[in-house]
Amino acid sequence: GTLSVASILAETAKRHPDRPALHFMGTTTDYRTLWDQTRAYAGALRDRGIGPGSRVAMIVPNVPDFARVYYAVLSLGAVVIPVHLLFKAGEIEFVLRDAEADLVVVAAPMLGEAIPAATAAGVPLVTVLLPPGGPDLPHLEAEAAAATPIERHVAVAPTAAATILYTSGTTGTPKGAVGSHLAHIEQVHCSLVDSFDLGPEDIVFGGLPFFHAFGQMAVLNMGVRVGASIILLPKFDPEEALALLDSYRATVFTAVPTMYVGMLEAAERSTARPPLRYAVSGGASLPVAVLEAFHRVYGAEVHEGYGLTETSPVVSTNGMEAPIGPGTVGRPMWGVDVAIADPEVEGRIDLLDGADALGEVVVRGHNLFKGYLGRPDATEEAVVDGWFRTGDLGTLDADGVLTIVDRKKDMIVRNGYNVYPSELEAVLARHEAVALSAVFGLPDDRHGQEVHAAVVLREGHEASADELVAYVKERVAAYKYPRVVHLVESLPIGASGKVLKRALVAEYAAPGT
Ligand code: ATP
Repeated sequence: GTLSVASILAETAKRHPDRPALHFMGTTTDYRTLWDQTRAYAGALRDRGIGPGSRVAMIVPNVPDFARVYYAVLSLGAVVIPVHLLFKAGEIEFVLRDAEADLVVVAAPMLGEAIPAATAAGVPLVTVLLPPGGPDLPHLEAEAAAATPIERHVAVAPTAAATILYTSGTTGTPKGAVGSHLAHIEQVHCSLVDSFDLGPEDIVFGGLPFFHAFGQMAVLNMGVRVGASIILLPKFDPEEALALLDSYRATVFTAVPTMYVGMLEAAERSTARPPLRYAVSGGASLPVAVLEAFHRVYGAEVHEGYGLTETSPVVSTNGMEAPIGPGTVGRPMWGVDVAIADPEVEGRIDLLDGADALGEVVVRGHNLFKGYLGRPDATEEAVVDGWFRTGDLGTLDADGVLTIVDRKKDMIVRNGYNVYPSELEAVLARHEAVALSAVFGLPDDRHGQEVHAAVVLREGHEASADELVAYVKERVAAYKYPRVVHLVESLPIGASGKVLKRALVAEYAAPGT
């Protein structure tokens, strides 16, 4: 057997050599060409001494070179470390040192932050996308042109490390979650293929960043696995996305909730409608009103799933066979166990019995990560008795359907009552003037914490802060409605497309605001 994450591409290149793999800036690369280019990149990397167990970091947006570098590293049996695209020099340096990277591959637009980081960490750097007349730096494409391509990918042990994916570090120092070939192969070949009927005729949206687990597995690896075509977007812009999806006749849209909101706004200014067969949402809670509006406007049913970097990532989803219904994140994926544990108990797992008990979601299965690199303390805290503690609160009903209530860390305690922001965001999303909202708690002398909401209005719609407070007040229990609504132009959104709640809290908690 020669299974490896790289075999996902190698197999498809054999089965569907002429199918278009990647659409980017008006050019299309078919699967045969993509694999040939990947083998050439691998030849160049091998000549640089990269082999089984080496570690190669990459700072590359969603362009064809992401796929070439990613599969080239994996095809040598080396470990790939796709770095967060918004990381600054200091953060990149941390990752290069922490992961003991042997090499970093950097797309030319990212050189500004990457060069000082690589220099400080003493890690050799090679570029991709170097424009003619660009800086005098080693160029992987040129090296690949001169190298002998590898014949085939090397075989790896199922438990060998394939990826190190860093958490964004919003809660402290970033941690490198080590993912095995087995975890990713199980996820792609079994879980995703089992849940979604994606095929070689499909044309999928490639705007979810591939450095993040969701885009990497559910779009890149899943798309390549079945021989679908991926429309690459290095930076998400809703209007551009809509135009591209329409011109390529896209059939599948996989995205995070803020992208759904953007697509709804874009649809108000354009009549373009791609022939979407279905859509997938994950990464954060999707308000039911947004799911329904997307279905109405684009004619595609939205399947919401749930996952984390540490679980490769998908834990559960509303699949195509038996969609469960809006507001839930469906049933656990094939081979993944989900249970609900007492969130207060530390050091051991106390499973809560009975349907609909609210507690911390814990996960077990082949999809689990191997641990946080060099952080046995953090790993031991997160994985207890084989169960991974997700830090999310949720319920499992009698039919095994999972509902995520919120992150433990985002829960607000007001006057001793628990308030869950995502419930209030879902209510706000039903107001016709609201495009996007984020609910968060701020310290408060009287109530412990007070409930605040930052709201972005839809273009051409008006609503006052008081009106929005009253709207939610009418629809939920008195202890939980947001007492303060901040009308804002936009919300802080990270490179993975999620609202950065902690940035909001910091902004509004700062003295003088
Ligand atoms: P960091 O890098 O700071 O750890 P993160 O916590 O967002 O960022 P990810 O692994 O990207 O890390 O995201 C996993 C989290 O996303 C989950 O723990 C959960 O809180 C949230 N999430 C994912 N899907 C859903 C969903 N369908 N509904 C609600 N929350 C979700």
